[in-house]
Amino acid sequence: IDLTVVELAQLVRETVLLTKAKWYHEPKKRGKHISIETDLKKDVYVKVNPAELREVFTNLIFNAVDAMDSSGEIKISVKKDKNLAICSVEDNGTGISQDVIDKIFDPFFTTKENGSGLGLSISFSIIQRFNGDISVKSIPGKGTTFMITLPCSKPAK
Ligand code: ADP
Ligand code: MG
Repeated sequence: IDLTVVELAQLVRETVLLTKAKWYHEPKKRGKHISIETDLKKDVYVKVNPAELREVFTNLIFNAVDAMDSSGEIKISVKKDKNLAICSVEDNGTGISQDVIDKIFDPFFTTKENGSGLGLSISFSIIQRFNGDISVKSIPGKGTTFMITLPCSKPAK
């Protein structure tokens, strides 16, 4: 597939807007008061399929929304460390218990009544194809942070 160089902050901003528009139309999510705070450093470039990377962020944001009761906060950051682009998606939702955290990237693993269990396994393979990595840290009762790292690229001319 075609990979393109994109500015990560820009892609995240677009995705947040798209995701908010989508969740506004989902009856179960509509009533929640959830804020999304961003801290996006400029000029971090990665070589990806933009539609697929947007899908990854959408999955992470929707999972965060699902993990909240009636209100909560999502924080998304983008930064650069040496030659790595680092993005994190943090929520203050239910968290993930120790006995299932090793399974969440498995296809069809879900703890939701109507979950497909595919969001994270698809996200994992997308990020791997871009030579990146995705990992999770969670404290039950406090929240969850997903971290994505991708190799930095030179800006497209
Ligand atoms: P689905 O959302 O259809 O259940 P996913 O692959 O997206 O499938 O997620 C798998 C499971 O990982 C979820 O069912 C949930 O138990 C857990 N999970 C993922 N993200 C979060 C999160 N932010 N907070 C709490 N649990 C999460
Ligand atoms: Mg999901």
